[in-house]
Amino acid sequence: MNIVITGSGKGIGKGLAEKFASSENQVFLCSRTEEDLINITKEVNKRNPGAVIKFLVVDLSRKEEVLRFTDWIAAQGVTVDILINNAGQFIPGSVYNEEEGTLEKMIEINLYSAYHITRALLPEMMSRKKGHIFNICSIASLQAYHNGGSYSISKFALMGFSKNLREEMKPYNIKVTSVYPGATLTPTWEGADLDPGRILEVSDIVDMIYTASQLSPQACVEDLLIRPQLGDLP
Ligand code: NAP
Repeated sequence: MNIVITGSGKGIGKGLAEKFASSENQVFLCSRTEEDLINITKEVNKRNPGAVIKFLVVDLSRKEEVLRFTDWIAAQGVTVDILINNAGQFIPGSVYNEEEGTLEKMIEINLYSAYHITRALLPEMMSRKKGHIFNICSIASLQAYHNGGSYSISKFALMGFSKNLREEMKPYNIKVTSVYPGATLTPTWEGADLDPGRILEVSDIVDMIYTASQLSPQACVEDLLIRPQLGDLP
């Protein structure tokens, strides 16, 4: 299978890349930091020399860069089986006090990147009537929370995108899964004083996505909502 994972240099995207990379799969990655992508490729190849990992350094917050990424995928001559729209950024703040331009930044990376990549890759999936798209939303897609601000607005929008896409793609046999992780231990939380008992592990999210991708053609996991057992962080 051919799997495209965006924002795959760190955190959940990195975990997904490591999980999906195998001798049967080709994995296509991207992020803005080349070093991260080189390191993942080395680590995976050490464990599994048969795995094929390809990557491109791009800034997905810019439409022309998104299209450079999708052109590059097309140039590999592959048909994409799974697209995981994972790239995202969290800038904490509130509508009333966040820096000017925060909403634009959040929408560009958390919504437009997924929208443009999906639109570019969909026609080929639709013609084959096959494909699975995962959109990494958030608990912040479902409810307001302290310091959510424009991040939460952008994630609500991504949920709307994901729900619409699912309905539109039903006649084309393409599955769309919205993933709603609670707080998950990734570099996003660097520097925060966290109780490890209150935060999810990357493997919790990765394992659920992987399992959802392995079901029969007629089964679609529409929503994956994963919270720490004790609930959201206080
Ligand atoms: P992370 O550790 O910060 O990793 C994000 C990845 O995306 C990095 O590889 C980053 O690489 C890449 N990225 C960011 N901006 C990019 C851009 N403009 N162009 C290309 N790549 C870009 O984040 P994470 O915590 O794993 O989060 C992954 C997804 O899960 C996000 O959509 C996030 O909103 C969502 N999520 C996370 C949590 C959580 O608690 N961690 C909870 C709910 C939802 P570069 O910076 O090098 O580009």
